[in-house]
Amino acid sequence: MTSATKQVKRIGLLTSGGDAPGMNAAIRSVVLAAHHYHIDVIGFVHGYNGLVLEEYISQSKTLTLNDVNSIIHQGGTILKSARCPMMLERSGLEQAANTLTEQAIDALIVIGGDGSFTGLLALQQLWQGQVIGVPGTIDNDLANTDFTIGFSTAVNTGIEAIDKIRDTADAFERVFIVELMGRHSGHITFNVGIACAAEQVLSFENFSQENEASKLKQLAEEIQQAQQNRHGSYIIVMAENLWSGGATKLVEQLQTFAGIECTACVLGHIQRGGSPVAKDRILATKMGVCAVQAVIAGETGIMIAEQQGAMSHVLLTSAISEGKHVSSQLVDAQQNILALSAQTHC
Ligand code: ATP
Repeated sequence: MTSATKQVKRIGLLTSGGDAPGMNAAIRSVVLAAHHYHIDVIGFVHGYNGLVLEEYISQSKTLTLNDVNSIIHQGGTILKSARCPMMLERSGLEQAANTLTEQAIDALIVIGGDGSFTGLLALQQLWQGQVIGVPGTIDNDLANTDFTIGFSTAVNTGIEAIDKIRDTADAFERVFIVELMGRHSGHITFNVGIACAAEQVLSFENFSQENEASKLKQLAEEIQQAQQNRHGSYIIVMAENLWSGGATKLVEQLQTFAGIECTACVLGHIQRGGSPVAKDRILATKMGVCAVQAVIAGETGIMIAEQQGAMSHVLLTSAISEGKHVSSQLVDAQQNILALSAQTHC
């Protein structure tokens, strides 16, 4: 959506929600592109808190080329990130709008996930400036973009960790249940599961909580069958927030129900950190440039997206409301071909 074109002098920039590897690359790209077009970038710290809380508002500053030197390879975010519950209240949104107006910001670029973009849309109701989202979340759960910044690195981190677990699992001929991040989406779980040749992938796409009892029985049978057929490791990769009580509970239940000994491993925040892989650095860099160009073109209410490898814009509303499903081909291949073969492999 394009607003009346005006000369842009100051862009506000913040990172919000869970940090994702590649956020720094995106910050760098926005600052470099804005410098090219003679626009100042004002960095706000600690997510939306930087617009709402005085102690953080006072830390906002113009980002120089020096500030973004040597950060492309760093995980985390130099602007810090945070949740900001005050944005859920009218008074918080009003304070954020006031800050932007007082600092003469023409456009706000937010690097974050669906929650951050919901906040951006709420802010748009109270503030006249342009709002642009850059998808930065390991969860890859924003619609109409092929990938989000951070997803590829998180998948690689999961793969590296499970490859190591596999060595131990092989050596001890053990069953491991590895829990992966992703909030309520299975993109990380399915992609990591496939890439690690997990014997089982348990995610939102192939399981729902009301079937826990029958799934427990099925899992126990399949593990026992695999153990009879061969000696070796057995890895179940599962999504967080899926099984009541998570991987630890499932380990207990398999022991109690069928006497199967297994070990839980919750990868947790390790997946959010680390140096971004090439794909995330390049995606973030392309998106940062595109975001600045979108501001200059007068766009507002949009998210920068990658579609079939090309940069484009989509409405923020569609990015957060349409949902993004794991490829059915991926789910089908894992569920109906690879997993079945793994059960019978000798
Ligand atoms: P990730 O999924 O990677 O954690 P996210 O952007 O979805 O990223 P959230 O914690 O859901 O992370 O949201 C980040 C922030 O966005 C919240 O702390 C809050 O400040 C703001 N926000 C979220 N939902 C709303 C809302 N409904 N209205 C206003 N602001 C919101």
